[in-house]
Amino acid sequence: MILFLGTKRGKEKTQVLEGISCPYCQQANTLTAISSPTYFHLFWISLFRINTNHFVECSHCRKAYYENEFTEEMKRAIESRQPH
Ligand SMILES: [Zn+2]
Repeated sequence: MILFLGTKRGKEKTQVLEGISCPYCQQANTLTAISSPTYFHLFWISLFRINTNHFVECSHCRKAYYENEFTEEMKRAIESRQPH
């Protein structure tokens, strides 16, 4: 019997970061925060969430920022929308 288990990505959540500009291209209101959860699955049934990756992407220059590259402005904009 073959067990199909592993990880799969869940539904992504996106959020436009208003009022801040991209550190790379300096365009305002182009940054979108994306959170993409990873689930452990067995026969493609999600059992539990392993972790959630957060990154920010600029729609103008397409640069992606990972969590360790977030600026204070990005963190503030993200946290103001997502109460913990
Ligand atoms: Zn940019």
